[in-house]
Amino acid sequence: MGRPWFGSTAEATAPRSYVRPVNTDSPAASPQPVQQPARRLLLRSALTGAAAVGTGLAVGAAPASATPRKRRRPETPEEALRELAAGNARWRTFREKHPDETRAVREELVAGQHPFAVVLSCIDSRVPPELVFDQGLGDLITVRSAGEVLDEAVLGSVAYGVLELEIPLVLVLGHQSCGAVRAAVESEESGEPLPAHIQYLADQIAPAIDHGKQGEARIDATIDANIRRVREHLAAEPDLAARVSAGRLAVVGARYELTNQLVHRVD
Ligand SMILES: [Zn+2]
Repeated sequence: MGRPWFGSTAEATAPRSYVRPVNTDSPAASPQPVQQPARRLLLRSALTGAAAVGTGLAVGAAPASATPRKRRRPETPEEALRELAAGNARWRTFREKHPDETRAVREELVAGQHPFAVVLSCIDSRVPPELVFDQGLGDLITVRSAGEVLDEAVLGSVAYGVLELEIPLVLVLGHQSCGAVRAAVESEESGEPLPAHIQYLADQIAPAIDHGKQGEARIDATIDANIRRVREHLAAEPDLAARVSAGRLAVVGARYELTNQLVHRVD
């Protein structure tokens, strides 16, 4: 099934929370006198208190006075991977924190976004990135296409996250029992064409089909091969490759298991 993707040590030492830098350049980030500042301040104090109580219920939480309203954004590929691994650990053990959903966070995000990871995943309804990594608003750029298939719109969306938003991590997330991969394999085996736009997806996945295996094993192996192929394609994009070489970006393949909700690396 592959090794756990950042190891139990990383999960154990992952920061519990992080503070997101506020964009002070934007006028929207500053309270405006016409917007009833006293009421806004009162509201924010109340919300901060509520957030502190919520955090205080968690095991080993910091004192309320030290609890930041906003989380610190992971700045490096390693920090971003640790945060995703920690979030997935919460998800698969039913200990989600549902971060970054509060009124205060929603207000703050009007001024701008500073997400820390691009997740390119399948459209499958069982694998929503914000849920399986226990992240919230403003945390992830999610790009989704069946079978993580690349086209110009997907490539442009990933590039936007990396180049314009300075995101340090691109995660290609495939998953167990992927219907798009199954369709590609079965279409090739039967020779039966799929409806037009679905055939496009199958054509893109076809080069990853593992002909060394049969039946369900072929589909499962092709899921991994497709993840590797998409990851390698992205990592070879010149703008992304330059950042990888400079240590500013990691492009990582990973797979979600429906059976135990674990995300693990696919190298
Ligand atoms: Zn899928």
